[in-house]
Amino acid sequence: MTAPSLPQQPSKRVMFLRAIRRRCPICGGGSLFTGWFRMKDHCPHCGIRMRRGEDGYTLGALWFNLLLAETITMAVFVGTLVRTWPSPPWDVLQVLGPAEAILMPLLIWPFARTLFLAFDLSFRPLGPQDLG
Ligand SMILES: [Zn+2]
Repeated sequence: MTAPSLPQQPSKRVMFLRAIRRRCPICGGGSLFTGWFRMKDHCPHCGIRMRRGEDGYTLGALWFNLLLAETITMAVFVGTLVRTWPSPPWDVLQVLGPAEAILMPLLIWPFARTLFLAFDLSFRPLGPQDLG
């Protein structure tokens, strides 16, 4: 029996473009999730490990998720203020701002998982430990 071969790692740009579409950063294959929140252990196309074999890998993705979600929330809030100045809709912002801050991390979770994988692969290239 031969060991599976290591796929070639694409450029960072290609990995991030694939990740933002919830696809495998390495091969571009889809179907990485069994639900909105649950990621498969391995890519069904190239076979790389989605958690890269480290404890706390999900914690890194969670950190990435909160960073992205709250950045988007603040951008929407500030964008609304700028567009509607000098009379911003304070009543709407008071309700939708906190709701968005709570819901956004849930909405972008799968994107944050694949983006964190691409981010991690940018600094720690693919190795034999990522298969199997
Ligand atoms: Zn793959």
